[in-house]
Amino acid sequence: MSWSSPGGPGHTRGDGTVTAHAPAKVNVSLAVGPLRPDGFHGLQTVYLAVSLLDTVTVRRGEGLSVTVTGEGAGGPDPVPTDRRNLVWQAAELLAEQAGVAAEAAIAVDKAIPAAAGLAGGSADAAAALVALDALWGTRATRGDLTALAARLGSDVPFGLAGGVALGSGRGEQLTPVLARRQWHWVLGVAEGGLSTPAVYAELDRLRAAGRAPEGEGTPSPEPVLAALRSGPPRALAAALGNDLQAAAVSLRPALRRALRAATDAGALASLVSGSGPTVAALAQDEDAAVRLAAVLAGEGVFRTVRVVHGPVPGARLVG
Ligand code: ATP
Repeated sequence: MSWSSPGGPGHTRGDGTVTAHAPAKVNVSLAVGPLRPDGFHGLQTVYLAVSLLDTVTVRRGEGLSVTVTGEGAGGPDPVPTDRRNLVWQAAELLAEQAGVAAEAAIAVDKAIPAAAGLAGGSADAAAALVALDALWGTRATRGDLTALAARLGSDVPFGLAGGVALGSGRGEQLTPVLARRQWHWVLGVAEGGLSTPAVYAELDRLRAAGRAPEGEGTPSPEPVLAALRSGPPRALAAALGNDLQAAAVSLRPALRRALRAATDAGALASLVSGSGPTVAALAQDEDAAVRLAAVLAGEGVFRTVRVVHGPVPGARLVG
């Protein structure tokens, strides 16, 4: 990796801040391979970036500090504000690679619920890389940032890229995918999160017990890719699939009812997003999504519902 010498602040506002947005993701197809010797599972997934955005604002500071507001701030299991936060790790990694001091005050305003299967932490890390690159004038290329993103976590490269992409490896090896239209969804957010490692462990347990399919039973990305290229929403609805869904439902049986509530209320299809527990319900169009959200909000099955669309761009500077 080659880095230009620091070029001074480029996108800093008059008040000394730089702000970036990054989107949540839904895995419209997620096939999980067997456990690998390195402890990870091989994945084949189709990511879709949706219009639920976290906002990361950075300014120069002494040392590093992180504040979190919005979703997941406070409560019994708050999003961490120390080195455990992915934005902290993103800052240290970028500073080390660029040879600059890791000095910034980072404010994360979260709209993406935490531990919800929407890759909110990964989105924040991607936004932090983009914002700090501008604040510190490190002038990393998109390729440089993508390489750092892959070291931070499997979903972070997609947080940078956005749009639609086929992910392989641990999810970090991306191939962009063409999508010709917008897709409209309702996200049903549950009370409380699910731990991603716990959901993978539950899938391994179910497979060992012969209670979840492996290999041929897993969804192929091809029908989803074909539907994204040219299909009507019904074709995409028929192709959606997530190997982690059985494990998420096993750990959180109320999800079965939540998935059914979404289709009963008019969704073309519903699936668990990533490791859950968020339910992603596909609607015919924007009006149908708004109607679906109103019905689901009235039923009280979810803590909150959000109408979103995608694809949307990945992490980028705003203002
Ligand atoms: P995954 O990306 O593994 O699918 P997820 O989308 O379910 O995860 P995240 O919101 O990314 O979940 O958070 C998972 C955990 O990561 C949280 O419980 C929290 O402890 C930790 N974490 C670290 N940094 C952040 C962040 N900026 N926002 C949210 N959680 C974070």
